[in-house]
Amino acid sequence: LASLGELVAGIAHEINNPLSGVLIFSELVAKDKRLDPALKKDMEIISNEAQRCAGIVKGLLEFARDYQPHMAPCNINQVLIDSLRLVECQSVFQNVVILRELDNRLPVILADQNQLKQVFINIFINAGQAMQDLKRGELRINTRSDAELVGGVVVTIADSGCGVSEEQLGKLFDPFFTTKGTGGTGLGLSVSYGIIQSHGGSITVESRVGSGTAFIIRLPCCLADEEEGAGQIPADA
Ligand code: ADP
Ligand code: MG
Repeated sequence: LASLGELVAGIAHEINNPLSGVLIFSELVAKDKRLDPALKKDMEIISNEAQRCAGIVKGLLEFARDYQPHMAPCNINQVLIDSLRLVECQSVFQNVVILRELDNRLPVILADQNQLKQVFINIFINAGQAMQDLKRGELRINTRSDAELVGGVVVTIADSGCGVSEEQLGKLFDPFFTTKGTGGTGLGLSVSYGIIQSHGGSITVESRVGSGTAFIIRLPCCLADEEEGAGQIPADA
């Protein structure tokens, strides 16, 4: 994934410069009075399509960005609640019951809140989309201390949606793997994977066709010295 990221970033960068030229000059020509009015539409198409390429390149650069997290002490429960608030009103959650099983004695961990939000939002939306055809879906969000890793936390996000086949399961975190056709980019989970890795954590998935999917995220404590013994914060802090 890392070398693919470098390759993508390199290509996107290289394409950006000539693309800027195409964009600028097509707009100049479009505005030039000497342009035959019959050609105006064609120039517009060139401009719009170049603009579209610029959008794709921007997306690729975002994907390939170096995920250097800005770490700060954070309350994972609060990050989950904030992320959920941003998506729960979307129509895909209309028939979904959301269960919050948040351990209010979780240790404080060092993490980049914005990046974690991005991960949780990606997973929530995927879950909603997997359940959107159900009469009643269930999204379960569970947090607990990591029994194997002192100070670490485990977040489980489980849905009762369509699930994925054994064959697809191995490809879920691959960049550009999507089953949503033009409705998906296939970047959500690969970006999430990169973010969790840069936090020193892990993300795994379990799924069964027809019964649901669960993402399990483990994050180490990595408490800074001055934060040591900072104590526990309640889920609703
Ligand atoms: P996208 O959502 O753009 O397709 P993602 O990287 O977020 O890209 O997800 C990749 C693929 O993984 C999805 O297209 C879907 O097939 C599968 N997937 C992800 N989450 C779930 C889920 N909760 N239930 C079923 N399939 C899922
Ligand atoms: Mg997605």
